[in-house]
Amino acid sequence: MVGMKAAIVAKCRDCIYDPLPGNGTWRAQVEACTSMACSLWPVRPLTSETQEKHRDPGASARARARAKAQGFGSTVRDKEAR
Ligand code: SF4
Repeated sequence: MVGMKAAIVAKCRDCIYDPLPGNGTWRAQVEACTSMACSLWPVRPLTSETQEKHRDPGASARARARAKAQGFGSTVRDKEAR
């Protein structure tokens, strides 16, 4: 049985990878995919460097504030701030 992540990787490689020299690695080609209408585009495999580049710097702070407002347990960072 193939896991979800492996299935997405296989689909993206099958879709876009051109092994001719000069076209880059399969991962580089998948990262460069511009088919935003594809349902796999938001979950296509990216390197951690690219994920970091695209990460919303305020997202984790907003998530913590939302969790706190909803009464969920405090985070380690909240405990450290006390
Ligand atoms: S995200 Fe891009 S590479 Fe992956 S399946 Fe969709 S169109 Fe192909």
